[in-house]
Amino acid sequence: MNALPTLHSKLLIDGQLVSGAGATEVILNPATGESLLGIAEASAEQVEAAVQSAQQAFPAWSRTTPAQRAGLLLAIADAIENNAGQLARLESLNCGKPLHLASADDIPACADVFRFFAGAVRCQQGQLAGEYVPGHTSLLRRDPLGVVASIAPWNYPLMMAAWKIAPALAAGNCVVFKPSEHTPLSILALAPLLANILPRGVLNILCGGGESVGSQLVGHARVRMVSLTGDIVTGQKILQAAARTLKRTHLELGGKAPVIVCDDADLDAVVQGIRAYGYYNAGQDCTAACRIYAQASIHDRLVAQLGEAVASLRFARKQDADNEIGPLISARQRDRVASFVERALGQPHIERVTGAAVHSGAGFYYQPTLLAGCRQTDEIVQREVFGPVVTVTRFDELQQALDWANDSEYGLASSVWTRDLDKAFQLANRLQYGCTWINTHFTLTSEMPHGGLKRSGYGKDLSSDSLADYSVTRHIMARHGLQLV
Ligand code: NAD
Repeated sequence: MNALPTLHSKLLIDGQLVSGAGATEVILNPATGESLLGIAEASAEQVEAAVQSAQQAFPAWSRTTPAQRAGLLLAIADAIENNAGQLARLESLNCGKPLHLASADDIPACADVFRFFAGAVRCQQGQLAGEYVPGHTSLLRRDPLGVVASIAPWNYPLMMAAWKIAPALAAGNCVVFKPSEHTPLSILALAPLLANILPRGVLNILCGGGESVGSQLVGHARVRMVSLTGDIVTGQKILQAAARTLKRTHLELGGKAPVIVCDDADLDAVVQGIRAYGYYNAGQDCTAACRIYAQASIHDRLVAQLGEAVASLRFARKQDADNEIGPLISARQRDRVASFVERALGQPHIERVTGAAVHSGAGFYYQPTLLAGCRQTDEIVQREVFGPVVTVTRFDELQQALDWANDSEYGLASSVWTRDLDKAFQLANRLQYGCTWINTHFTLTSEMPHGGLKRSGYGKDLSSDSLADYSVTRHIMARHGLQLV
């Protein structure tokens, strides 16, 4: 069980598993800092070959029926489940996530996403065909776009792959997928199985850096759509590059989720909720419950209880099952988190409740951190840290909490905690976020859309909205006259 799982390093191009011919990237285990292997990225010629292969596969693939595509997506879901142990171990090795969490959370969710889109593509809804102009019948089709380049981040490598590949293929597109240069192991392990299931060229998998492989894909004239989950700055670069060929873009960028805790909230549930959803995946989650607004009368109790709860989070222990969170993905990311906290603690009004230090052992761990006394204008309240750091800001009136919650460049996720349903809906309906949870946070489901507003980007992952994003509505009109012939 503890033996190293097989590490795959071959890219998938035109149905063949091939070694990259570009520069080599060393893949690390963030839990130890040790290198696992080197993977050569795709050369410029290989990127070209992958796009060409996808383009050649497109006419036949786009004419398959939803039922045929669904059958293959279900086979992918089965392949994920049949190899769940191996995939979870690779995800854990490459991201440092506790294995028991990768097994229980990530891998089943990936299989479910493929199953959802297999079903969703067979029962899409739309406007009725009809005679909207006398003597002419109109009907709508939803057709695929062509070659989609999908570019993923490192926080949930296989899940992000599933979110991008499943709806794009279900809609009838061909895909060139690029995982993060830090976390290619799980999708490369799946590549041989995908090559057996899908027709040649329908899905190509390329490893490589953003500035090399990523930007070549974004700039390619034959790529019709780019889907990115990543940083705002990366999204901006991609938008600029995509403008040259007028590509469709789908951008899932960062988040800084506000959590409004009203004075009538169930405090124990709030504390358990923030402990779980503020620090899950070491806070490397764009929906992390990281920006707490606590009403004055419960503020002090919340800070005290939450401080204790956060200090009890278990990490960097020998036994996998003992760990609740893993390390940051890299030394660079850990140091970035540390410098955010250092600057915050340089402000006299900010109080360290717990954490606020780099873990002294091996790996890229940072202590789960809670900071209180934070003000709305503080950098730590405004900017995405993407680490195990939660801030608390005190508020008096609900309007003030709502204004502060909405005063953000981000617009992905938010939550409201109260026992009063009227209050919950009044706040939820006014929050400018793609998702608002009431008395919970973080839980996603394949049936519901996930995506942001403002600089968190646009376009939806999951749900039938995502199928719509990866396809185009076409109008077919037939003139047949009014008289019966
Ligand atoms: P990143 O933007 O650095 O990298 C994301 C991907 O983009 C990687 O595959 C990278 O190689 C590629 N890339 C980088 N520069 C590129 C370029 N010029 N052209 C083409 N591709 C390029 O992000 P990251 O550090 O991997 O992930 C963390 C970020 O992702 C955070 O900001 C986080 O909030 C965001 N994120 C958002 C969501 C969401 O659903 N909104 C989910 C997960 C992560």
